[in-house]
Parts: sequence; structure tokens; C-alpha cells
Amino acid sequence: MPSNRLALFVVLSAFVSHAAASRDWGDVSSPTAATPEAIGETGAGCLAGGVRLPPEGEGYKVMHLERNRNYGHPDLIRSIIDLGHATAQGHWGELHVGDLSQPRGGPMRFGHRSHQTGIDADVWFALDPNLIRNADGLRSNIPAPSLLTPDQTRLNHMLWDIRHARVLETAARDPHVDRIFVNAHIKQELCRSVRGDRSWLRKIRPWHRHDDHFHMRLACPTDSPDCVPQKPLEPGDGCDASLDWWLSLPPLRPLPDNHHGPAPSPALPRVCRAVLNGR
Ligand SMILES: [Zn+2]
Repeated sequence: MPSNRLALFVVLSAFVSHAAASRDWGDVSSPTAATPEAIGETGAGCLAGGVRLPPEGEGYKVMHLERNRNYGHPDLIRSIIDLGHATAQGHWGELHVGDLSQPRGGPMRFGHRSHQTGIDADVWFALDPNLIRNADGLRSNIPAPSLLTPDQTRLNHMLWDIRHARVLETAARDPHVDRIFVNAHIKQELCRSVRGDRSWLRKIRPWHRHDDHFHMRLACPTDSPDCVPQKPLEPGDGCDASLDWWLSLPPLRPLPDNHHGPAPSPALPRVCRAVLNGR
């Protein structure tokens, strides 16, 4: 290659790779057409062949449609549709579904550190279908109500009821669901009140906040060899000293940076670059 053409080639390829690097996951409005696959870790990964959860279905509605974060691996979409079906059948109200993943997964500009691979979903605790009576068309103007007392020190028993336990139990018994994060006071209430088969309580894990929504995370789908599994859960139902530790933390503590909160840009698996660029 003559040197002037070589120089042009070098300049052009630098431009192309810079353009690719600066493209943001939050700007991409559609999934790739590939076979669905969760790739990497929930906090550093991406989603190929993402499936869009319809904005509403039996027993559920997606909130904050303007965020375009209702994409996931097909296992996740099926789990939410099944949970909505059970919610309708059980007359428990209606699920208000928060963020899943962006169309191609990846890091988000705000709101979550995880949710990057299409296997995480937030579901509000609010079950009242009237909640969104005054919502705008994108359901963007309604905040998720907390189940705690205003000082965040206790569960508000005016708001908590058996339907919340039923929804959590149904989600936890879904074989695709690996774990569910809830506020420690909610876990404590389940520890106190659940009788009979308590095996599903193991999947319910205390975590910071999570008083207005629970966070379901699936196990790595069987069709996703590059999905990095979570550390296995501790044995037992979790109604033990580990829960006491969570309950001993002061309320309204600042968010840790390993879950929700501002995200540093983690190193993604190399294949995610191709996903971002639609291949
Ligand atoms: Zn979440």
C-alpha cells in the first residue's frame, strides 16, 4: 500500500474504532437479531438477541417505558409473563415491572450497576392496579411506593399483606430464578410468617434498599455458555445471623457501588463490542 493510502487507512480505522468505542449502550434502541444469549457478568456484560417484554400483558404493566429497558433473555421474559399470569389468577392485583435490560444490555447511564445481561428484573411491590390511574402515557411520572415506615426502620403493616408473600413465593419457586433481593425487613417478615415448606426462602436475599421493589435474577440460561454464574447461595433459609447483620445496619445508609448507583465503566467481554455494533 502506498504510504499516503496507508496513512489514510490508519486515520480512517482510528476514526472507526473511536466511533465504535464512543457509541453508548443507552443510545441503542433495538436488540441484535442474533440467537439470544446472556454474555458476561450481570455487572459487566451484554445481551445478544434480546427479547422485548410487551408493555402490558395479563397481570402486569411495564413502568417507565421511556427508558426502553424492557428487554431480556427469553427465559426472563417468560418468567415475568408467568408471574403476571399467576398474579392475575391469584387475584393478587397487578405487577408493575421496572427495569430489565437495555435492548443490547450493557452498562446503563443511571439506575443500576447490574441488569447488563438480560437476566435481571425489578418488580415493584405495589400491586394496586389503581396506582397508575394518573400516569402519563409512558408511565414515567409515578414513583414506586415503599413498604417501610417513613423512617425506614420497620415494615409498614398497613401496606404489607399476604399477596406480597405469594408473589415472592411464586417468583422464588420459578426454577429459572436464582435469587431475589429484598429489603431485610421484608425478609424478616417472611422468616416470621411462612409456615410449611420454607425451602424457597433461601432464594430471598436481603439487600440494601429494595423496599419499593424486588429484584429477580435468573441463573445463567443453558443456552448462554459465556454467562458468568453468580456465587452459589449459602445453604439454609437465610433466617439467621446474616439477616440479623442486615437488620443491624442503620436505615437510609448510602448505596453501595456494587448494585444500584452510579456505574464505573467495567471491562466487558470482547464479544460485547460486536453486540453493541449489531453483529
Ligand atoms: Zn434491580
